[in-house]
Amino acid sequence: MIRAAAFDAGARVAVLGLGVSGTAAARLARRQNAEVYASDRASGSAQRESVDLLRGLGIDAEAGRHDMEKILASDLVVTSPGIGPFSEVRQAVTRAGIPTIAEVELAYRSLRSRVIGITGTNGKTTATQLTTHLLASSGIDAEAVGNVGRPLSECALSDRQPDWVVVELSSFQLADLVEFETEIGVLLNLAPDHLDRYRDLDSYYADKARLFERASENPAWVLNADDAAVLRLAEGASGRRYLFSTEQEIEIGAWVGSERTLLGRMEPHSAPRRWASLEDLGLLGRHNLANALAACVAAVLAGADPDRIPAALRSFEGLPHRLQAVVERSGVLWVDDSKATNVAAAVAAVTAFDRPVILLLGGRHKGQPYDAIADAAQGRVRAVIAFGEAAPLIVPAMKDAVESVITESGLDAAVRTASDLARAGDVVLLAPACSSYDMFPNYAARGRAFEAAVLALTGSGGGS
Ligand code: ADP
Repeated sequence: MIRAAAFDAGARVAVLGLGVSGTAAARLARRQNAEVYASDRASGSAQRESVDLLRGLGIDAEAGRHDMEKILASDLVVTSPGIGPFSEVRQAVTRAGIPTIAEVELAYRSLRSRVIGITGTNGKTTATQLTTHLLASSGIDAEAVGNVGRPLSECALSDRQPDWVVVELSSFQLADLVEFETEIGVLLNLAPDHLDRYRDLDSYYADKARLFERASENPAWVLNADDAAVLRLAEGASGRRYLFSTEQEIEIGAWVGSERTLLGRMEPHSAPRRWASLEDLGLLGRHNLANALAACVAAVLAGADPDRIPAALRSFEGLPHRLQAVVERSGVLWVDDSKATNVAAAVAAVTAFDRPVILLLGGRHKGQPYDAIADAAQGRVRAVIAFGEAAPLIVPAMKDAVESVITESGLDAAVRTASDLARAGDVVLLAPACSSYDMFPNYAARGRAFEAAVLALTGSGGGS
């Protein structure tokens, strides 16, 4: 399939952001004979390395600032996944009326693969990886792209393009899609997030709704039947609909049946088929069950063999920093969910355990109230340890719900206090509900710091 080029040869293309995606996009645009300028406001070692690499390829690149003159003189702007629609540089580009596309859009134009697009507030990476794993287990040539794995532009640059790409789409990327089309689109869930960057919830959801505008001729939608906001957003979308639910039987799609089974029915009025047992899924929490149901439906739609689902679920290990067990020592299970950077993810984490929780909350506030965590914490959380910038907002929200609410300045101190409080049978859970940027470069660095502090305290080596 030939897709329209994003620009004419010789066009001036500015790439915003020098992460792995931006760097690959700059290379791709250069290979298509654009005159490329690529920049990043940050100037850490990663950005400087990218500058060196791009300059070596004859690309004008700089870290530490965006040269607005060059950017505003370009014919096309390509945004990296981290560049939000309301960032200063993006706004200036919008005001100047310069055509703007997401990195995935640029890549898409030179991609031959078929596309499964996955979005939602939480679970995108998990569902993207699991869908790909399910496809691969059926011998289908599929690759996951997005937060983990190769950026789509890297895929587009390579000679080896898979039959299917499973693309994780954030709201920021959805905002900058033009011709990108998904054959199978998954909307996992919707909850408030990024309120520090979006004007309001409606504009965040409006970007998510762009999934339905960017559909192929006969798209299939995989939608969360337990999430009213998801169903509402999908209301006007044309195409086939498949639902998934952890709570109710579904006409077409997948759900949790009696006797702890995972059932699927892909044709109307046919008998449901047993796809797997809940025990096959190693991931914790009802939210991961929902992710698994969505991934199974998407994979079966793309040709995966339902008979291969149980083995594929059993061999899926989950991803680091997402409800990941660090160690169990003296009956205390330490869990790293550093990727729980919003309230909905933290609630999912707290409710995933049937044993008492000591909860570490904090970091940089993202604009959402913490009340939903307080509600979920009642009867489940024994103590909250608040740390980082958001601690003064967390403490008053939690104090009526939880017996003991303690403030610590940093993560190491929070881990020490948790260790003092923990009794055999407890879970100590880092599910911070905040971004990491007050103290760490990203959630992964925060997760690694947590893990190091825990292992230092409990004696390294892992195991129980
Ligand atoms: P994303 O790519 O959307 O950020 P991840 O799979 O990386 O999603 O998970 C992000 C966080 O959200 C993790 O803390 C994870 O445990 C939690 N999470 C995953 N799936 C869900 C879900 N369906 N609902 C709520 N929280 C979830």
